[in-house]
Amino acid sequence: MKPLPDLQGCENRMLVAQNVRSTIKYTECDKPRCIYSKLKLNPRDLRALKHTTDKYDYTCGAILAPEGDVLHGKVFTRLQLACTSHIEFAYYSSDVGRKDMCAYCVATEIQKDKDLCKNFKVVLPVCDLCRSKKLEVPKRNPIKK
Ligand SMILES: [Zn+2]
Ligand SMILES: [Zn+2]
Repeated sequence: MKPLPDLQGCENRMLVAQNVRSTIKYTECDKPRCIYSKLKLNPRDLRALKHTTDKYDYTCGAILAPEGDVLHGKVFTRLQLACTSHIEFAYYSSDVGRKDMCAYCVATEIQKDKDLCKNFKVVLPVCDLCRSKKLEVPKRNPIKK
């Protein structure tokens, strides 16, 4: 088993909002997953990306551009993801998607929990239905008081 950065093609620290260039929806769930790249993708890269993503069937946590693909080593997705994983934090802090989307079921126009927002700098929206299923509201950066 190769270490994760080798498999993924990049270190986890590269998987941040400023490197999000696009999103992809996998076949098994509706969650948008972030496509990361160090460099902005030019129209040729975007065409290649479309070609690549049309060619393969993905599930969450799959390698986007496998060895041999023109975009191999250029575009990345997070491998530590399963269909049950909520939408990534980077999705919400980048400008590729909707910021009012439930992190679990992709319902839109969802408000963030106001009480949690008082205690955490970053809180993701989770709809009432998902909350009633006891899905945890993803949050980070506790506000020090
Ligand atoms: Zn999935
Ligand atoms: Zn939901």
